[in-house]
Amino acid sequence: MAALKRLHAPLAWVEGRWQRDVLLSVDASGHWSEVTANVPAPPGAEVLAGPLIPSLVNAHSHAFQRAFVGLAERREAGQDDFWSWRDRMYALALRISPQQLRAVASQLYAELLRGGYTQVCEFHYLHHPAQGQAFDDELDMAWALAEAAQDAGIGLTLLPVVYTRSGFGASGLRPDQHRFAADADWAWRASQRVMAAGLPRVNAGVALHSLRGASPADMTRLRQLVGATDVPIHIHVAEQTAEVADCLQATGRRPIQWLAEEGGLDPRWQLVHATHAEPAEIEAVARSGAGIVICPGTEANLGDGLADLPRWLSHGVPLTVGSDSQVTRGWVEELRWLEYGQRLTARQRNVAAAPGTQASSAARLFDAAVTGGARAAGFAAWGLTPGARADAMVLNREADGLRGLPDEALLDAVVFGSNGSPWQSVWVAGRARPWRAPGRVGDAFEAAMRELWRSDG
Ligand code: ZN
Repeated sequence: MAALKRLHAPLAWVEGRWQRDVLLSVDASGHWSEVTANVPAPPGAEVLAGPLIPSLVNAHSHAFQRAFVGLAERREAGQDDFWSWRDRMYALALRISPQQLRAVASQLYAELLRGGYTQVCEFHYLHHPAQGQAFDDELDMAWALAEAAQDAGIGLTLLPVVYTRSGFGASGLRPDQHRFAADADWAWRASQRVMAAGLPRVNAGVALHSLRGASPADMTRLRQLVGATDVPIHIHVAEQTAEVADCLQATGRRPIQWLAEEGGLDPRWQLVHATHAEPAEIEAVARSGAGIVICPGTEANLGDGLADLPRWLSHGVPLTVGSDSQVTRGWVEELRWLEYGQRLTARQRNVAAAPGTQASSAARLFDAAVTGGARAAGFAAWGLTPGARADAMVLNREADGLRGLPDEALLDAVVFGSNGSPWQSVWVAGRARPWRAPGRVGDAFEAAMRELWRSDG
């Protein structure tokens, strides 16, 4: 395809390192057709004002939970953990309408774009109408997410979730989970319909809620339907110690162990959280080729625990991050938390950095997230490389945290030394996106929040 636009970056993060005088061509489909270092800017090329780095995929999001941020930070009972948080979160899940979801997701997606994400994987299980609502189409909630993504200009990987039971050994869902009900056939049909709609920058995969939320038979059926297609398959796993204990009791095996032995894991699979994993489980995941999605902000907020980051990294398991409950909405904070959690418990510095190499903690985590994010979204390529969508961010060297630094330190300072988002523009499919969402997005979000929380006032 002929080049539509050419960009020239004085400095760009290409193949895991800073390279100079990088010429990037964008084709008519909004993908990089050429990325070449050490060439002067040719006439007609747009010269970028700052260093260029890839944007990231947000590999795990529940958009509706944006409406719950800041509303669960008081201790309302003697025990406050994931499970008490979940009961309160269900109050929101039970009443949000497609219109409200669109307003909340439009606000969220604009914030994610500002936070350096240009693709979001929606782990979507709010399928059905709340009491008193009626849908024209059984996918009205999914379309609300797709419309919100189009509003914001962010890419979307929609993952309709299979959810059939309330726990190990349960025969169905609880009454307060009726909106989530979907078997493998339903989720696969939803995924196929989203793909067939052909919306710009929207693709689809599938998900299973968790080993407690879907049965082995659901998993077998879903694998049958997915067949040899290359769609991503996501699942929540081992986020909670109680979930590990329940799984042990029900199956005699730990959740990741069970998945590795019975789940048919392969490189299409993404294990979300994977917090409580023993060394043998990490080795089994590494052999399968599956990736993991860590959500450090949410896991900290919910008191879940810490993943064994050094072991996941040393086994070369693809690894990326997600905003999950939306308490954090930018990748800088996720990568920083990912490393700092390890430093605080190990009482060491630069835990993620590869020993004996030049790769810093920030570089190792960032490159992992670039590669792992692409797999989570079902893309063959991502970053500043030919064939990837032309998504990127232009750093602002005048930002407080980057001023006066040598080139080699820029990425480290983005992750560990910046207030907010030290970039001046975010590009999606070869176009710089508006830095701030229009006022109507914020107004609609506020109106939805007032409606949703009126009765709790
Ligand atoms: Zn989640």
